[in-house]
Amino acid sequence: MIFKSINPFSQEVIAEHEVLTNTQLNHKLKLSENAFKDWKTTSFQERADKMQRLAVILRENKEKLGLLITNEMGKIIAESMAEVEKSASNCDFYAEHAEEMLQDEYYSTPFKSMSVYDPMGAVFAIMPWNYPFWQVLRYAAPAIMAGNVTLLKHSSNVIGCAKAIESAFLEAGFPEGVFQQISIEIPQVESVIASDIVHGITLTGSEGAGSSVASLAGKHIKKTVMELGGSDAFIVLNDAELEKAAHVAAQSRMLNAGQACICAKRFIVTEKVADEFVSLFTQNIKALKQGNPVQEGIHMGPLARLDLAETLGDQLEKSLKQGAKLIVGGEWESCNFQPTLIDFVAVDSIAFQEETFGPLATVSRAKDENDAIAIANTHRYGLAAAIWTEDREHAYTLARKIEAGNVFVNSLVRSDSRVPFGGIKKSGYGRELGAVGIKEFMNMKSLVIE
Ligand code: NDP
Repeated sequence: MIFKSINPFSQEVIAEHEVLTNTQLNHKLKLSENAFKDWKTTSFQERADKMQRLAVILRENKEKLGLLITNEMGKIIAESMAEVEKSASNCDFYAEHAEEMLQDEYYSTPFKSMSVYDPMGAVFAIMPWNYPFWQVLRYAAPAIMAGNVTLLKHSSNVIGCAKAIESAFLEAGFPEGVFQQISIEIPQVESVIASDIVHGITLTGSEGAGSSVASLAGKHIKKTVMELGGSDAFIVLNDAELEKAAHVAAQSRMLNAGQACICAKRFIVTEKVADEFVSLFTQNIKALKQGNPVQEGIHMGPLARLDLAETLGDQLEKSLKQGAKLIVGGEWESCNFQPTLIDFVAVDSIAFQEETFGPLATVSRAKDENDAIAIANTHRYGLAAAIWTEDREHAYTLARKIEAGNVFVNSLVRSDSRVPFGGIKKSGYGRELGAVGIKEFMNMKSLVIE
């Protein structure tokens, strides 16, 4: 059995990767177990030296690694290189801050009492293709700085990226077994979850994958962090700075060809400003140049796989039949999907109800602010949201009413190493990043000394 890396722009098979046999997989699990015995005893300084070296290696190879990302999943080269840079910065951040984040915490009791944070073993990560470097370094840098080891099952279309990340860890001096990529098929996933060395599972991907993996983790009593789908609301109120909002709206929806969990997907606009916003949004979308992702001056490449374009096309067709109005775009061929905007999208239509993983923006009109919040909250997902209003004090009150793990006011929703990130509802649970994220897979041990 092999996994194929297919360039989504040319449809050429650019590499083939063998799937691990069960014997090879068991060997990797054993390697993890052995590596953990030593790695958990290393000092923060030793870990930090290697993590900073990894950051240097990623930066030094930014162009080569960027091209690999673009060739495997189709994002434009500038975004690929920015992703490698962001991943390197995350390594630096945890190299610098992991120790202070994991300090003992003392309690006010008549005896001495505290919490200490011990590493647990291996974190098993199941990661998606949309940010093939960032998603991996986002969980791996804190996990490894905390003294854990990790096994990565990457999406089967980006195994080249998984191998490149593993090579970079080894080149940075991390001992064999601290970071391992395992090219396995879905039926092999349970044996990894069941393994005694695995203490936690982190998954970023679809709701279906999350539900299946969380069930298996429950069966084997393993903790999970789930970062699943999103259908983020982008709420534009009467007093919003419309030009800026429309510019960021296009950015937020079309970045990575619309394939991010935190892309704004549902644009909920109060009736009074809806026509003007749609007109400005349309201008911004029309300015986007689509084409070969390795060429300069291109804003959007193809979708990562044919089935993703087909699913999006189907969602678009059905939503138009359900009464939405096509404003711009709407055509697709192979993996190349035009940046598309539809207006008058009803709450019960497909494009509103389902996650649309590609360059399809939907506008739904709200009577007023309360209606806008209610429309935003009616969704099964709760990853992130943006609110656009010039009344920043009132924005705080509105943000507290939004059912999401992250709310941004007058800004592009983005993840940041310093700020915890994660969702609620069907978008998952648990947090990555920040001081909270690094503790997810640690044994928070209570220590009482009389
Ligand atoms: P998946 O959720 O299928 O893939 C993400 C990862 O999960 C991959 O490594 C995949 O492996 C793995 N996986 C899939 N099913 C299982 C399972 N039953 N048990 C264990 N691991 C599993 O996403 P797709 O690539 O198919 O994309 C489909 C949809 O998922 C998108 O349209 C989007 O809605 C959502 N998605 C959301 C992401 C996010 O950032 N929140 C990221 C990617 C997708 P393999 O590649 O081998 O199938």
